[in-house]
Formats: sequence, C-alpha cells, structure tokens
Amino acid sequence: MATETERKTGVEALTSGAMAAVWEWVQSKIPDGLEVFDAHAHIGADVDGRTMTAEGMRERMVAAGVGRSIVFPLNDPNARDDYSGPNEVVWNAYEEHPGFFVPFFRLNPHLDYEAEFDRCLERGFRGLKLHPVSQKFELDDPRVVRLFAMAAEADLPVLIHAGFAMERIVEPLLPTVERLPNLRLILGHSGMVEVLEAVRRFEDHPNVLFETSVVRAKDLYVLFSTLDPSRISYGSDIPYGDFPSTLHATLAAADAAGVPDEALPGILSGNIRRWFP
Ligand SMILES: [Zn+2]
Repeated sequence: MATETERKTGVEALTSGAMAAVWEWVQSKIPDGLEVFDAHAHIGADVDGRTMTAEGMRERMVAAGVGRSIVFPLNDPNARDDYSGPNEVVWNAYEEHPGFFVPFFRLNPHLDYEAEFDRCLERGFRGLKLHPVSQKFELDDPRVVRLFAMAAEADLPVLIHAGFAMERIVEPLLPTVERLPNLRLILGHSGMVEVLEAVRRFEDHPNVLFETSVVRAKDLYVLFSTLDPSRISYGSDIPYGDFPSTLHATLAAADAAGVPDEALPGILSGNIRRWFP
C-alpha cells in the first residue's frame, strides 16, 4: 500500500485539473503501444526525509503508462558503511515486482566498496549509481576512477549524478571516458550545469547516454538542439521528479528543438532499453 503522502503527489493529482490539458498533450506525443522506460528513479529513504516504496513506484508507473524503471537507493540514512541495506531494499523491490524494475546498487567510494561491489554483481544487479554531491567526491578521485574501471571490466552500466550542485563534471570525467570506451555511462540530469560542454566532449563516445530528469528547461532545449537524439534517454528522478512533469519537460523540449517524432520512441524507451534487453 502506498502512503497517504505518496497518494497526494501521485499521478492522478498531477494529471487532473489545470494539468489535464498538459497530460493530454503528453499522451498524444507518446507513440501508441510504446512502453516508456524511465532511466532514473529511487526506492527507499533519504536523509532529507523523502521516501519512495516499491508499491508507490509501481502505482505511478502503471498510472502513467511507464513500463520499466531503473531504480536505486536514495542518500539513505541507513547506508552506514557499504550501502548493503538500501541496496537490498532495491533488490527486494526488483524480485517482488517482476518486470517493473531494473536494479542498480549504490556505493560510497570513500569507504571499502569492494565486497559490496562483488556481492551486488553476484546478486545480479544491472548497474551502479554514484552521487558525487551526496557522497562528497570528485569524478577524478583515484578511488572513483578505479570503480569506473571495475564497472567497465564487469560490463556494468554506471549512472552518475551529473547535475544540480556540481561544479566539475566534464573535465574530471573525460579521461575515464577516453580510457574506457566500453564503459556504459548514463549522465544523470545530462551534465546540466555544463550541458553544451558535455555534448561537445562526449558526443563521439556512443556509450555515454544523457538522461533528462529535472534538467532546467533551457538546458534541455540546448541538449535536444545539439545532440543526436539517439543518445538521449528519458528519466523521472522520482521521488524528486514525477512522471507527468518530467515527460512533459522532455517532450516539450524535444518539440521546441525540432526533434522529429520518429526519434521519440528512442528517447522515451529504445535508447536505454538496448542496454537492458
Ligand atoms: Zn536521482
């Protein structure tokens, strides 16, 4: 059962009243029969008080017509040393709701991460999430660079928070991207603070995807105006974003930038789905 707070911020509340026409437009842009794939969402609890249950997430997906979501922990107050507790919450969500979730695990690069990395790989997690702001590290920290190499070696996609509150994204990341062409990287929030620089530096690296959740309108427009749409994937960042608003933001920016409708199935689903068949 979803909690009362979750219901109030649920899809129904965001698609009725003044939002009804907006949601109708969103629906008209989503090709018939397309199963939307959300590349960025959270399950668990955050130190800032936000929470999202697997049930609440699933309810939102069903209500919004979203077929699958990549899910990983928040900045969890119970993470302690190795994130194993919050990672298990995500794993349980994956097992209890077959077909809905693609489970990513989270780590703190400052602490011993090797055992949890190996455990999660063994468990069957499909990717790794890293958050340079919450866990206070730079993307060129040797411990992080080593983690990227471990992920590349294990053929494990990595989603990094590359947005709000960050100062250095492209410059510290570029050497890793150049050195590890097989590393599959999802730039959460599209490198929002320096999106144009991110596009310029990473456009020739096909294993780098740009994810659209909670990116400022101007930056989303720049992204869709400058980058091949096959490199862009929709994300919600639930519980910070929501499906109606993030779908609208993504589709409206694509529309304003003149992205052809034929590219929408890729942006909403196919570009990321090919990594998780
Ligand atoms: Zn997030």
